[in-house]
Amino acid sequence: VAKRLEKFKTTIFTQMSSLAIKHGAINLGQGFPNFDGPEFVKEAAIKAIKEGKNQYARGFGVPDLNSSIASRFKKDTGLDVDPEKEVTVTSGCTEAIAATMLGLINPGDEVILFAPFYDSYEATLSMAGAKIKAITLRPPDFSVPLNELKSAVTKDTRAILINTPHNPTGKMFSREELGFIATLCKENDVLAFTDEVYDKLAFEEDHISLASLPGMYERTVTLNSLGKTFSLTGWKIGWAIAPPHLTWGVRQAHAFLTFATSTPMQSAASVALRAPESYYEELKRDYKVKKAILVDGLKAAGFIVYPSSGTYFVMVDHTPFGFENDIAFCEYLIKEVGVVAIPPSVFYLNPEEGKNLVRFTFCKDEGTLRAAVDRMKEKL
Ligand code: GLN
Repeated sequence: VAKRLEKFKTTIFTQMSSLAIKHGAINLGQGFPNFDGPEFVKEAAIKAIKEGKNQYARGFGVPDLNSSIASRFKKDTGLDVDPEKEVTVTSGCTEAIAATMLGLINPGDEVILFAPFYDSYEATLSMAGAKIKAITLRPPDFSVPLNELKSAVTKDTRAILINTPHNPTGKMFSREELGFIATLCKENDVLAFTDEVYDKLAFEEDHISLASLPGMYERTVTLNSLGKTFSLTGWKIGWAIAPPHLTWGVRQAHAFLTFATSTPMQSAASVALRAPESYYEELKRDYKVKKAILVDGLKAAGFIVYPSSGTYFVMVDHTPFGFENDIAFCEYLIKEVGVVAIPPSVFYLNPEEGKNLVRFTFCKDEGTLRAAVDRMKEKL
């Protein structure tokens, strides 16, 4: 394996999902729903295939989908974007992340991100040859240490990468934090990359897009996808929204990574994004019930549960159970309790910082969540 990928192991999500199968454990690890996406979206995909929408799509997206993405973004942020020049459809947000890093970062550029971070950020930044600086968000509230962030910015800083609502903590960046980041970006001529794939799973407060802050659109790449919002994580439809000068870089990388994304699935995605607001309200209502089952159960089982205001994840502290670290705890949880969770130490540059934490997901049907909680209450 090439040096730039040497330090990365099989992803923790893959590892944990195969352990779940091997041990017959309930999988509250990898974030994928164990229920299906909406019927009207699945029907749209079947229709598109039958209608013969099966050859290469236009590289940067099927026109209908580019338009649906732009209208959705306008509803969410008030920003008018040109679907032809500022929206790029990719094969999942993971590809949009890679295309952003590879298309806009030069070797040696510094990129600041927040730990714990989604694993693909570090790997794709490494592929791009970037120098990574991580600012750690600490429990209980995982708020941004503003002074630390400010002193991390140097003349070599090219971009700040944020993820809100934040995987794995469930933290949502506040308007004050986003304002502070925006000011830093503008004063130091730094770009912002923002992964907002959980934007429709914001339970306590409204999601705020960094691009919507004054003067930020022109320096921001907003990344999103269909998977979480429509419970279709296997469809791998994502996108990047950015002003033309940044879209250029993203599209150049995308053209040589995947060239284009599945044509019929893009057609169906476009139908999905035109769902009425009631769809999103119902999604949120359902997830609130699931979240309460998991959070109450984890508390009853004896975990220290940190507040999560968005995403379908909850971060807890396992120290009351006396294990050495997150890996040891998760091994016990799989083998002796029959539940899989994610050990988050891989989401830090220094794994020590995550050793007391464990991430659980609640994107499962209520019966599964109850069964997992019962096992933990009984056996931990
Ligand atoms: N985003 C999903 C999670 O955090 C995992 C995606 C993946 O397996 N790469 O659980």
